[in-house]
Amino acid sequence: MANEQLVGNYDIIKSLKNDVGAFIRGETKIRPLARGIVMHWTAGGYRASNVDLDHYHYLVEPGAVLVGKFNVNSNRPPLLPNRYAEHTAKLNDLMIGVSMTGMFGAVPNNLGRFPLTKTQWDTSVDLCAELCHFFNLPVTERTVLGHCEVARVYGRPQGGKWDPWTQNKNWPWTIGKSVRQIGDEFRFNVEGKLEHLKNL
Ligand SMILES: [Zn+2]
Repeated sequence: MANEQLVGNYDIIKSLKNDVGAFIRGETKIRPLARGIVMHWTAGGYRASNVDLDHYHYLVEPGAVLVGKFNVNSNRPPLLPNRYAEHTAKLNDLMIGVSMTGMFGAVPNNLGRFPLTKTQWDTSVDLCAELCHFFNLPVTERTVLGHCEVARVYGRPQGGKWDPWTQNKNWPWTIGKSVRQIGDEFRFNVEGKLEHLKNL
């Protein structure tokens, strides 16, 4: 599945079914596959690198969603070195890592040549809603959160990681909002999409 380019929600769902298929084949009793999603940016260019594909389950490029090397099941304990998507310090077990590509060389006052795009933001909302729907997750701070929120919500320091909720003067959807407000708005949008999916 690595590097497969996906277009549209149908294909996202198809890829999730492959994850679950692998799970069901190996188990007789269904257990939770995931307990939450941590959102990131890659700090690279707009194209996902091989390193990115090793570290995240899903990568959101400006024009595509890519499936990483390790499926969601790989992050079920026990976590084996180099056999799971290692995306967040001390918070990888049963956690799905989704990363928007970009932000290479970004600092708070200069987001560099690869700032996140609105399309990536909106696609990430859709993807998180699909994942919550599929894995039966509620939308809370503990289940849908940015890497920058992990220290506050889980009490696990992340070395000052500030991805991916940050302001940019060119991003009307973040301007004037605190990190917490940006995260809450992201979750509000995911919740809206999730309710829509439940009613289909
Ligand atoms: Zn991160």
